[in-house]
Amino acid sequence: MLRALVCDPIGEKAVEMLTSAGIHVDSKPAITAEELERSVASYNILLVRGRTKVTARVIELGSPNLKIVGRAGVGLDNIDLEAAARHGVKVLNTPEAPTNAVAELVIGMMICLARNIPAADRVVRSGGWPKHAGMGLELAGKTLGVVGFGRIGRRVAEIAHAIGMTVQAYDIIEIPTQVLEKTRTKLVDLETILKTSDFITLHVPLTKETYHMLDAPKLRMMRPTSYLINVSRGAVVDEEALYDALAQGWIAGAGLDVFEHEPPTGSKLLSLDNVVLTPHIGAQTREAQEAAATMLAGKILDELGLR
Ligand code: NAD
Repeated sequence: MLRALVCDPIGEKAVEMLTSAGIHVDSKPAITAEELERSVASYNILLVRGRTKVTARVIELGSPNLKIVGRAGVGLDNIDLEAAARHGVKVLNTPEAPTNAVAELVIGMMICLARNIPAADRVVRSGGWPKHAGMGLELAGKTLGVVGFGRIGRRVAEIAHAIGMTVQAYDIIEIPTQVLEKTRTKLVDLETILKTSDFITLHVPLTKETYHMLDAPKLRMMRPTSYLINVSRGAVVDEEALYDALAQGWIAGAGLDVFEHEPPTGSKLLSLDNVVLTPHIGAQTREAQEAAATMLAGKILDELGLR
C-alpha cells in the first residue's frame, strides 16, 4: 500500500481523495524538520504547503521509497528541485488554484481606487463625513490593459468585461483566437496598453525580461488619470520610479499586493495616499487554499494512474 505523509495543513477533502484511492495517509501538519528526516523513509508521497522544507537531505533519506513531493500552492522555493530530479522524485504543484482569488483581488483594488474606499473608511473612523470630497469614477466604460494574458490575466478580463470594461492585453506568446473571443479581448502592444488604458494590471511572472518592466520611461507613457495594479511580483515594477509617478502625478494611483522586498518596511510608497496596499494576499481565500489541496490530490492520483 502506498503511504503519504501530510506535513502542512492540507484539509480533509484532499486527504479523503487520497484515502479513497487506497493510499494510507498520515497527517502531521506541524511536523518538525527532525521528525520529517526520521520518518520520511517510510513514505512514498509527501504533501506540503510553504512551511515544510523538503531539503536535499530529506529527499536523500526518503530515497528510494519517496516518489512524489506535492506542494499545495505555487512557489517551490521550499523544495530542493535539483535533489528531487537527481533521485527521480516527481514534484507537483498547483499554480492554477489561486487564479480566481487573484483576479477578484484585482477587481477589488480597481474599485477601491476608483471610489477611494480605503481613504473614505479612514476619514469616517476619525469622525469625518467626506461625502463630497474626492468624487469617484465608475469602471464601466473604462479601458483595462492586461499585461501578461495567462490564467489570471484572462480571468480578470472575463470579470472586467462583465462590469462593462473594454479589455486589451499584451503578451509575448501567441494567444489563441478562441481565448481572445471568449474573453472579448483585443491584443495590442505594450506601448498601446500604457498610453490608452485607464487601468493597467500586471500578470507576468518575474523573469530577467520582466524585472523592472515598468520603469520610469514606461510609467511616463501612462495617462495622469490612469491606475496601475500589481499583484504579480514586486520587482516587475521599479518602485523608485513608481513612487515618483504617484507623487508627481504621472499616474493617478496604484494598487499593490506585492513588493520587491516584503514586507516593504520603510518604503516611500507607504507615505502616499493614492495607493492601496495589501500584504501579498492574492491567493489568500478559503476557496483557493482548498482548491490548492484538492487539485494537488488529483494530480497525485493522476501521476500514480489512480484516477
Ligand atoms: P501564467 O503563466 O498563466 O501567465 C503569465 C503570462 O505572462 C503568460 O501568458 C506569459 O506568456 C506572459 N509573459 C511572460 N513574460 C512576459 C513578458 N515579458 N511580457 C508579456 N507577457 C509575458 O501565470 P498566472 O497564473 O496568470 O500568474 C501570473 C503571475 O501572478 C505569477 O507569475 C505570479 O508571480 C503571480 N501570482 C501572484 C499571486 C499573489 O498572491 N499576489 C498569486 C498567484 C500568482
